[in-house]
Amino acid sequence: MIRERAYPVEPWHVRETRLDMDVLAQSESVFALSNGHVGLRGNLDEGEPHGLPGTYLNSFYELRPLPYAEAGFGFPESGQSVVNVTNGKLLRLLVDDEPLDVRYGELISHERVLDLRAGTLHRELHWRSPAGRDVKVRSTRLVSFTQRAVAAIHYEVEALDGPLRLIVQSELVANETLPPQSKDPRVAAVLESPLQAEEELTTDDGGLLIHRTKVSGLRVAAAMAHDVDAPERVTLESEGYEDWVRTTIGCVLKPGQTLRVVKYLTYGWSSRRSLPALRDQVGAALAAARLDGWDGLRREQREYLDEFWDAADVRVEGDPEVQQAVRFGLFHVLQAGARAERRPIAAKGLTGPGYDGHAFWDTEMFVLPVLTYTQPGAVRDALQWRYSTLAQAQERARTLNLAGAAFPWRTIEGAESSAYWPAGTAAFHIAADVADALRRYVLVTGDRALEEEIGLELLVETARLWRSLGHHDRTGRFHIDGVTGPDEYTAVKNDNVYTNLMAQRNLLTAADCAMRHRDQAQDLGVTEEEAAAWRDAAHAMHIPYDPEFGVHGQVEGFTRLQEWDFEHTPPEKYPLLLHYPYFDLYRKQVVKQADLVLAMHWRGDAFSDAEKVRNFLYYERRTVRDSSLSACTQAVMAVEVGHPELAHRYLREAALMDLHDLNENTRDGVHMASLAGAWIALVAGFGGLRDHDGTLSFSPRLSSRLSRLEFSLQWQSLRLRVDVRPHQTTYSLRNGGSDTVLELRHHGEPLRVTAAQPVTVPVPPAHPPGPQPEQPPGRAPLLHLPENMA
Ligand code: BGC
Repeated sequence: MIRERAYPVEPWHVRETRLDMDVLAQSESVFALSNGHVGLRGNLDEGEPHGLPGTYLNSFYELRPLPYAEAGFGFPESGQSVVNVTNGKLLRLLVDDEPLDVRYGELISHERVLDLRAGTLHRELHWRSPAGRDVKVRSTRLVSFTQRAVAAIHYEVEALDGPLRLIVQSELVANETLPPQSKDPRVAAVLESPLQAEEELTTDDGGLLIHRTKVSGLRVAAAMAHDVDAPERVTLESEGYEDWVRTTIGCVLKPGQTLRVVKYLTYGWSSRRSLPALRDQVGAALAAARLDGWDGLRREQREYLDEFWDAADVRVEGDPEVQQAVRFGLFHVLQAGARAERRPIAAKGLTGPGYDGHAFWDTEMFVLPVLTYTQPGAVRDALQWRYSTLAQAQERARTLNLAGAAFPWRTIEGAESSAYWPAGTAAFHIAADVADALRRYVLVTGDRALEEEIGLELLVETARLWRSLGHHDRTGRFHIDGVTGPDEYTAVKNDNVYTNLMAQRNLLTAADCAMRHRDQAQDLGVTEEEAAAWRDAAHAMHIPYDPEFGVHGQVEGFTRLQEWDFEHTPPEKYPLLLHYPYFDLYRKQVVKQADLVLAMHWRGDAFSDAEKVRNFLYYERRTVRDSSLSACTQAVMAVEVGHPELAHRYLREAALMDLHDLNENTRDGVHMASLAGAWIALVAGFGGLRDHDGTLSFSPRLSSRLSRLEFSLQWQSLRLRVDVRPHQTTYSLRNGGSDTVLELRHHGEPLRVTAAQPVTVPVPPAHPPGPQPEQPPGRAPLLHLPENMA
């Protein structure tokens, strides 16, 4: 954990003012740059020391066997792992023959700044070599949002004494040695030397490397070129070998003189394109980058982000740490999805090898809701990616003797990559999560074309899955048995409420959509009877409820299971999955992450207010939050059931997950769902945003620490701004003609907002709070409010 405040609180920057070797790997994740296509971890320019070197291309993976002690029918045979591709970040510096390495000599000052508006990582250091020669190095790195194959580094060395002989070695390196794997099974399987050399080529000012993976047969090309600006004579030469290409720049500087190098870096990969085609592609990308030059790339980056922030920024008054964190979170969410373009958004984005680079339901239920309201084009792409994997999901369903499509629990290229059924394919809810992300996207954007193009088929195929996975019992009730819901400590059980409610909506949305697109539905073989069967199943969906406690069992029979002995579970035994057998976790009342509580968020229309209050209290006492996909949901529901102060603490946990490394695994990549969760906790929690029945509704209510929360949303073609104060909320439309009207709900009451003028309405007084929720001992939200805010 990053216990001391590692990064000073600033609204638009994440700044590191000293280099702490103990948290180097964490900082590499925090400072990772990506555009959803290319991802560069925040490794130091000179490559060493490093925590975990990392350069990733979306969907560039290697296959590896999934070994089983005892194989079973339908077990996936191979897994996919993201590959650390050719490293082009390297710029090694020699100062009078001594390599700049911060472990030697004296690091007089060091600073790195992630600038959330500029979209750059800037580094400045003052280093004294062991021989006593002083240099200042300033480097600025970007991964371009506007040119998706391009990254660039502006590297400056200033001689503070001299004359100094400087050598800059700029490299492309494939098959870097990675540090040994951690014992945590969730961490990526490290692949040794996954790349086979196909071509190396050098030019005067750069070069390229082309490699291929051994099993998945994917080809990757990386190219670099340099612009050099020096006050004195400069030498430039390049050499190339199988796994590395180096351009060496040499010059002698007088005190006060500066050497400037711009390194342009481009990547391309393909499963199909020929080597010459890929070589040309990266060459063309280099030419395009140089056409813009460093200043042009920087300007475009800024313009892209100005537009993003204009549509997406969230302003928080009263908790500056959360202000910084929500912007940091939005920035990483954007980085993960901006240019993913029909490729997945992984649980760690492209910031680290955690979870083997896989995408889970994190995408549809945490990341996409945020992007739907802020950057909907990225959601369109992400849904098209899911659609592109439909054939594999259909195939998987057939293997399992099911109809429709069974989307994988974890994957890169579309095939199930989970070797563990109970916390893998059994989490069938992913199908309904995909359907819901689609429903929300169409609702919020009005993009009926996408609905027709891919949406109908996704809905039909997921509805078919539910209809074949579930069954009507003798009395006609519809059950979905033997599944795992979001809580991975309750596995392979009957009638998970979250799954059933999400499937219910999936079935009804599919039936409605088939009505809207009759011809296309017919082409997919949907008959009146089939759609009627979906409706029947939805209406007869069984939702377990325990009348004795007056709460919903998150699965059938949950409330009668043995209680977990929290009193005798010491803090060091968390996360429980690393210290207790699953067998024990599965048969007791212990909840890894919001499950029934998550159902109350996304299907809040299916619960009464009183049920929500009772359920929340019941599950708070049993939820340990061993997953980072929990705090934000608990924040949302804590506000709704009248505990905004508790919600604030959950908000802080979700938002500061990576800036404080709360789960002690940020080294493997940032937690994209939790970062998205900061927005969810603020906008759906304190803003009370819901879109259940197709209408936009808000129930804003702030915690006592927050004096103001302001956010913008896109709804159809409109841009709405919501400005929440403790006792009133102002809704304003930022575009539209004078007769434009947006109908929404404010604390349940209809409200018309026109473009002509903002509407300010009071926030109704809160109901008296009910009993204070309690968490299992030691499992209260992780971050206390700072002293000066308590
Ligand atoms: C959580 C899952 C999540 C996965 C990837 C697991 O620990 O239980 O819900 O999808 O992590 O973030």
